[in-house]
Amino acid sequence: MRAFGPIPSRRLGHSLGINNIIPPKACTYCCIYCQIGKTVRLCNGREAFYRIDDLAREVKEKVNELKKRQTRIDYLSFVPDGEPTLDINLGGNIELIRPLDIKIAVITNGSLISLRDVREDLKKADLVSIKIDAVSRETWARINRPHNSLDLRAILDGMLEFGSVFKGEMITETMLIKGVNDSHREIKTIAEFLTLLKPIRSYISIPTRPTAEKGLLPASDQVLNMAYQVFKGNLPCVEYLIGYEGNEFGFSGNIEEDLISITSVHPMREDAVRAYLKKAGADWGVITDLIKRGSLIELKYQGKNFYMRRLPGRD
Ligand code: SF4
Repeated sequence: MRAFGPIPSRRLGHSLGINNIIPPKACTYCCIYCQIGKTVRLCNGREAFYRIDDLAREVKEKVNELKKRQTRIDYLSFVPDGEPTLDINLGGNIELIRPLDIKIAVITNGSLISLRDVREDLKKADLVSIKIDAVSRETWARINRPHNSLDLRAILDGMLEFGSVFKGEMITETMLIKGVNDSHREIKTIAEFLTLLKPIRSYISIPTRPTAEKGLLPASDQVLNMAYQVFKGNLPCVEYLIGYEGNEFGFSGNIEEDLISITSVHPMREDAVRAYLKKAGADWGVITDLIKRGSLIELKYQGKNFYMRRLPGRD
């Protein structure tokens, strides 16, 4: 299923996820902290990943099902297991699901935003969240591990161009990893760039789920405080994204399908899985069975168990 959830989102409330990059995982980046594992196909060209009508139909069906269950949906969010702007049908799909009358968000790494057609597609959304983990070439290469054809200067210019014309809400997210992009100098240069970009909110985040590379540590509390103060000195609205999102995952009627599609892009913590199973009237046997069949895997992160669909990029 390409529409999944709703999943609790720290930025978007109850967000019905749309996975428009199938099969997993095509991305322009291979971020060291990616929660869905290593990039299977590192690419930089836009392409069609599905028939445009099929995805919009699936989203409409899912919304109708959830409405019947009186489930709240705050956003329809393009948040795939990969980079959503690689999808050449992104703008067309936003138009097709617009009549559902629910706000539409795109969560992008911004790497293709120097392309005019990508900016035109993003302009159709109500909210665009852009990842900015580094503005120096060396740190960008180290944390985001981009496709070798990408040019950071062109990306940053594309972001500024988009920000100057976008009428919706533009927010940014900066993931801070200890020893990688958490120096005062790097944080200050990111803050200076954000001042030019003028997002309505800038989020500072740390990994809260298992990361693609093992042994990564989040920035320390002292650094998070320093980053907040530096950002706050330049920007009107700065928030942390460092807490757990909560356990309110929606039940659409098909337990296995829900669990597989949600955990394709969003590893679920054990207490969230238990809360979901309770809502669905099922027991832990479902999880044991999915693990036995090789559909789900169990991962440990910071002392907690997480469950995730077995993907090619995840050991
Ligand atoms: S975190 Fe996002 S941009 Fe980075 S590799 Fe994963 S999917 Fe791609």
